[in-house]
Amino acid sequence: MKIVVQVKLMPDAVQALALERTLHAVNEAANWVSAVAFDRGVPHVYELRKYTYAELKSRGLGAQAAQHVIKKVRDAYTTLKANLGAGNLGKPGSRRRLKAEAKPIVFRPEAAQPYDDRCLSWQYDAGTVSVWTVEGRVKNVRFVCSAGALKTLQAYRQGESDLVRRDGVFYLIATCEVPEAERFEPGRFIGVDLGIVAIATTSTGYQAAGRGLNRHRRRQLELRRKLQNKRTRSAKRLLKKRSRREKRHAANQNHIIAKTIVTEAERTSSGIALENLKGIRQRVRLRKPQRVALHSWAFAQLADFIAYKAKRAGVPVVFVDPAYTSQQCCECGHIDGRNRASQSVFCCRNCGVVAHADRNASRNIARKGEAVWIAGSESRVPATP
Ligand SMILES: [Zn+2]
Repeated sequence: MKIVVQVKLMPDAVQALALERTLHAVNEAANWVSAVAFDRGVPHVYELRKYTYAELKSRGLGAQAAQHVIKKVRDAYTTLKANLGAGNLGKPGSRRRLKAEAKPIVFRPEAAQPYDDRCLSWQYDAGTVSVWTVEGRVKNVRFVCSAGALKTLQAYRQGESDLVRRDGVFYLIATCEVPEAERFEPGRFIGVDLGIVAIATTSTGYQAAGRGLNRHRRRQLELRRKLQNKRTRSAKRLLKKRSRREKRHAANQNHIIAKTIVTEAERTSSGIALENLKGIRQRVRLRKPQRVALHSWAFAQLADFIAYKAKRAGVPVVFVDPAYTSQQCCECGHIDGRNRASQSVFCCRNCGVVAHADRNASRNIARKGEAVWIAGSESRVPATP
């Protein structure tokens, strides 16, 4: 399976300047290629190359960099087309969509640039890379990452890496082809309930408090309100930076939560049952609008992280229909909307059991997961004569 490993570059001042000039140069070139592509009805890569390659070379891009710029532009149009097709930019004729279709794709000055092994080489033991720039090859650029990430890089890195700069920091994002562990037969299932107050609650008692995320979110909202009143360009820039930081913070939390859940599943030979995406959307729709933006993608991301970490560890994951998981009693199976006494308390009208609402839901999800797994396993077993 493919995974990405991100390392932070620690260039000295001279190296940083070369990297910055390079990103600016390739993205300026990409904008020019994009305009050519747009004018010519977005031709295939090999045709686009005919129109642009010589000019890119004369601008001082090396052969590889020129090829990568052309391919990056063509890929961006392919992605745009796919997004339009999937309706991600609204219905045909909508304002957002018209705007996206009306002019060439534009690349930010520090947008990601792909590098192959000919323009980027890694010295893992020294913790450095040697990288092509518009000012020649820059050697001994230090990078930092976790010990685990370094191991993965060393063993499985393959193909291209992206150079990108975010909030003033350079990163390399490398693709690794990691072998999948063989999936084991689970003895039971851990159900994961996703919520606002507690981001994740498992049927085995683990609870990831959303406190950090929610508090962080509130602070960001206040700040945003203040800044929005200003409406200046610098305020806008600051807002963007804040929102990127907010996303990174949520992603970090999600990594930790996912790792905790998958590690427990692995240790106890359990499978993991998650609500399907439909459930995540429904759940989020019920919440206050300003929370929705953060939580809808945060939930989807958490589910993604769990699924891919589980895959690496050979832990089976099943997705279940979340209908009634919050209304049904996990002890006696009785379903009643009034069972949910409050946001946090579940109290069964039939058997009288009182439980934490999220915990009750997570146990229902676990049970459903088991049922899905058994149904799936049986259908794979050939009938015995
Ligand atoms: Zn009950």
